[in-house]
Amino acid sequence: MGDRRGKIMEQVECVVIGAGVVGLATARALALTGHEVLLLEKEADFGTGISSRNSEVIHAGIYYPAGSLKADLCVRGRDMLYAYCREHHVPHQRIGKLIVCGQDQDAAQLDLILEKARANNVHDLERLSPDDVVALEPALGARAALLSPSTGIVDSHALMFSLLADFENAGGTFVKHAEVQRGEATGGGTLLHISSGDEADTIELHSQWVINATGLGAQALASRFDAMPGAAIPKAYYAQGNYFAYSGKVPFGRLIYPLPEPGGLGVHLTLDLAGSARFGPDVVWCETPDFVVRAERRALFAAAIKRYWPGVVEDRLQPAFAGVRPKIVPRGGGEQDFIIAGPSEHGARGQIHMFGIESPGLTSSLAIADYVSALLERTA
Ligand SMILES: Cc1cc2nc3c(=O)[nH]c(=O)nc-3n(C[C@H](O)[C@H](O)[C@H](O)COP(=O)(O)OP(=O)(O)OC[C@H]3O[C@@H](n4cnc5c(N)ncnc54)[C@H](O)[C@@H]3O)c2cc1C
Repeated sequence: MGDRRGKIMEQVECVVIGAGVVGLATARALALTGHEVLLLEKEADFGTGISSRNSEVIHAGIYYPAGSLKADLCVRGRDMLYAYCREHHVPHQRIGKLIVCGQDQDAAQLDLILEKARANNVHDLERLSPDDVVALEPALGARAALLSPSTGIVDSHALMFSLLADFENAGGTFVKHAEVQRGEATGGGTLLHISSGDEADTIELHSQWVINATGLGAQALASRFDAMPGAAIPKAYYAQGNYFAYSGKVPFGRLIYPLPEPGGLGVHLTLDLAGSARFGPDVVWCETPDFVVRAERRALFAAAIKRYWPGVVEDRLQPAFAGVRPKIVPRGGGEQDFIIAGPSEHGARGQIHMFGIESPGLTSSLAIADYVSALLERTA
């Protein structure tokens, strides 16, 4: 596309906008079922958005309200992801995690989590006594804990690379430096206006189906589609999640999570596949997406970690990176669910928009892709 000047009109059956893990998985699923698919990404490469700024945890499906899309797609997506990683040699590990109740916290909260997990068909959690906890992870200071054996970690970049390869092998086309500016409804679909950063290089592309998988940009883009009613676009809010790396070894063999906090799962320990440790994410609400990690948050991190690991050494915490959660509910507004909306929800023909795809979006990506495919087939 980049070498063509002036306005050019082209036609394609499906356009997926946004090459994060959700857009990649969706484009792949559509291409594998025989659709003609173009995947557009505004940046210089795939996976540079929130898909590369997260904990890389394969969630078991524990925390989400029963019957929510998050609960359903996380549990399905987790199994699909483990199977996919095995078959496609994507580095991953079913490392397990402990959800710990600190010495000063109410252990009854663990029972509520256990109940939620059961309601979501997650039946493998084990309630551990303080002695069990010490036997498993002697460095922890905890009153009690839950062990989740089906939680794991994945190399998210290797996963996205593999999804892209499948997509291209199935005949799909990936175009980077292609920013969708707006969409105009036509009789049979949407006319997309796409720029490549070069003012002179504008493409007009007609597509029967458009899938908006632009993460933090989803609301802004949807509002530039003339057929999308404003009332169907949720207001966007942002909650930054900072990570601090830990220099030196940590004395843990599995992921360690505190009790969840409003807006996130609490500052937890994740281990990557190389064994390096990082802590995060915290929850910092912001007006616009903000990816700067502020070193002065170190003391807050150390205090949060001390609640379950008294031996943490504050000076070993180093600012690492930040992600931003695409929120659709403001601070204090309670639980939010994924929104995956097709024409029967919003009325705009040939369009599927995804909003609020925060955690567990990585875990759920393959199940989200199947959900979008089914929505498209039902509506086509
Ligand atoms: C702090 C944090 C921790 C998390 N931890 C986990 C975890 O451990 N496990 C888990 O399952 N999930 C986790 N998540 C959630 C997970 O990271 C996201 O749900 C997932 O990455 C969302 O992927 P996406 O493809 O929707 O978004 P993105 O990866 O952001 O992709 C959107 C893409 O759209 C592109 N784009 C935007 N606008 C346009 C446009 N107009 N035209 C063309 N392209 C455009 C962007 O450049 C970007 O590449 C976490 C999220 C955060 C923020």
